[in-house]
Amino acid sequence: MKNFSIAIDGPAGAGKSTVAKEIAKRLKFIYIDTGAMYRAFGLYYLKNNISLDNEEDVNKYVSQVTIEMENQAGENKLFLNQEDVTKEIRTEEASRGASKVSVYPMVREKMVELQQEMASKNNVVMDGRDIGTVVLPHATLKIYLTASVEVRAERRYKEQTEKGMDVNLDDIKKDIEERDYRDMHRETSPLKQASDAILVDTSSMNKDEVISEILKLCQDRGIEL
Ligand code: C5P
Repeated sequence: MKNFSIAIDGPAGAGKSTVAKEIAKRLKFIYIDTGAMYRAFGLYYLKNNISLDNEEDVNKYVSQVTIEMENQAGENKLFLNQEDVTKEIRTEEASRGASKVSVYPMVREKMVELQQEMASKNNVVMDGRDIGTVVLPHATLKIYLTASVEVRAERRYKEQTEKGMDVNLDDIKKDIEERDYRDMHRETSPLKQASDAILVDTSSMNKDEVISEILKLCQDRGIEL
């Protein structure tokens, strides 16, 4: 039988991972965080002091990188060349690295292949930028999750200050704007809403409202809750 797949795309800070994780839990599907995969990929270059600005240099090392995901006691762990980098990929440096490395077609090709393989074996909720457009063009349900830049920056600020990080709201906003620009204007698989994706603007919605709206859409597509 064909697997179910739910694709959730959208810009940084729209709440994709929070929502995708919860939907996966409710449906007992596997959650695949593709942003984490690009973060780990970028981290390889940062750790090895290889510039992310030169495509040829990046391409030379693509075959050296292995990314694996494992669910341990309900938590998704990410391994870069067998090393657990689950925590390390969450820094602002890793997030900039991901945004840079993800513009290169050779990197994307490798990631897309891995993501499609995962979706062929499991019922998945996958979040990212190109899931509905490239990775899973035949997904059971496609959501484009977004919110205004201001709301997204405030959410990230709150999240990071709660973790005890010393961050500045204006810097976060600028960083989000830059990432949006890079994600939406790159040549390969730019971030855009798939023609058959449903737009969910979370600017004035809380988490529970977003989840119940998406679960309703799942039911409409024949997915049992
Ligand atoms: O979602 P997250 O912020 O963790 O993603 C980090 C970066 O990885 C994004 O800014 C984007 O450049 C890249 N990415 C991508 N395609 C995906 C997921 C993430 O290009 N499917």
